[in-house]
Amino acid sequence: MLGRAHSVLLPRIVARTPVPHVLSAAHALHRDAAGAGTVLTSGGVRNLSNLGSLAVEPHAAVPPHISFTPTTTPVLNPPRLPDTFLQEAEREAPMLQAIRQLVAEGETGAFNMYDLEVVRSQLHRFRRNLPRVHPFYAMKCNPDERIVELLASEGANFDCASKAEIGIALRSGASADRIIFANPCKQPSHVAYAAASGVDISTFDGADELFKIHALQPNARLVFRVRVDDSHAVCTMSQKYGAPLAELPELLALATSLQLKVVGVSYHVGSGSMSAEPFADAVRTARAAFDLAAHHGHEMSVLDIGGGFPGTIAAESGKGDEPLLVFADQGAHKPPSFEEIAEVLRPALDEHFPASSGVKIIAEPGRYMVHGCSNLVTNIIGRKYSHRATGKERPMYFVNDGLYGSFNCVLYDHAAPSPLPLFSSADAAQRELDVSSYSDCSIWGSTCDGLDCISKEARLPPLSVGDWIRWPNMGAYTSAAGSTFNGMERPTNYYL
Ligand SMILES: *Cc1c(COP(=O)(O)O)cnc(C)c1O
Repeated sequence: MLGRAHSVLLPRIVARTPVPHVLSAAHALHRDAAGAGTVLTSGGVRNLSNLGSLAVEPHAAVPPHISFTPTTTPVLNPPRLPDTFLQEAEREAPMLQAIRQLVAEGETGAFNMYDLEVVRSQLHRFRRNLPRVHPFYAMKCNPDERIVELLASEGANFDCASKAEIGIALRSGASADRIIFANPCKQPSHVAYAAASGVDISTFDGADELFKIHALQPNARLVFRVRVDDSHAVCTMSQKYGAPLAELPELLALATSLQLKVVGVSYHVGSGSMSAEPFADAVRTARAAFDLAAHHGHEMSVLDIGGGFPGTIAAESGKGDEPLLVFADQGAHKPPSFEEIAEVLRPALDEHFPASSGVKIIAEPGRYMVHGCSNLVTNIIGRKYSHRATGKERPMYFVNDGLYGSFNCVLYDHAAPSPLPLFSSADAAQRELDVSSYSDCSIWGSTCDGLDCISKEARLPPLSVGDWIRWPNMGAYTSAAGSTFNGMERPTNYYL
């Protein structure tokens, strides 16, 4: 998508303050009283302290592929708009247009607007940055059949955790040898299904799993899930999965006595890691596990470096420009970009698993592939007002999705989705970008559970019942685990 040529309709730039600012269909930038910049992006509001080079004069000229009506004569020698801003605006334009069209056609329910080009471009970005690593998409993140079909047609492989997920992958056209059954604690009937379907590579992290596999799929090729340090991650795995390296000799001896083949090592460094280092540390742990298994006579040929890669979309050149606030618990710290992680991973893989070793390296990216591919659009179905301790009145907006639906990510994935207003009036874009009209509010889900609050602290312009709120980056761990609790429908899916 980033490469597609689209003409972007920018709203008229309105000079509200005498300080430099940039407005585009996707961003509004302004400076607060202290002089620090705040930028509103599809990823949320972020703070920028050194915006000198990014800011342009209110009436600066914009590159010719963007149609734009200046309010006065352009200034001479205008500063350049940063590429990442332009690319993001360009990327969002068709998405916004499709959403506005649906709303204009009378849609009233919540809906997802998917841009599958984002998935394709994330896959290509993965292959460019980690050319030695075969991606196996972690389907639990979003098993949407269109996403799976696209990835299958692009030659990606799949990490499945259940019988149903294996079925989706097979129906999408992926052959059984492109699937890893990467659930270390599988349901016995699902193991039997995998065996019957020819999915023969599977993970384990305990003795009972070995007995189960021995009984149901004795020819399976097994991958040992080793526990690695995930203390830098927001979503951890080690409390549930992965055996310590110290348990491996015993497990290997058991595998040998059961005549089971151990062929590889896997791990998951956790998701939302605040540092790239754990990705490299885990490669070293995996190497130790490999050596142990080889010492025990197993023919080791697969390294599975798991998932946990961030889903933020940035242009190649935009390294370090990834939006903040992907996870609520991370505060203002900035997680490493995919490129920064790849830069640490490549040399670690080359050192410990060089191409000459013949080891096949695979990964299980989940959120990385789909985080940015969907905008969820919710309708405001009710409004009330609350009083804060200060006595200031704040609107409470009720929308037609919630924590039991797409926003389960707030509970389960530590997510902090970013609401943006979506108006349908002729001057919609201008109203959406008028950051000075934004004020504190809260956003609530539609079920009758008091817990069902999507955001206690949001900022939006004044909205009425019937208005819309758009939530970018809602492709990962959203619809996958949503329910219809209280009789509330799940959003309809549309595709660009
Ligand atoms: C959930 C999961 C993944 C994907 O994690 P992301 O953070 O979405 O990349 C990969 N592998 C396994 C085994 C998982 O359980």
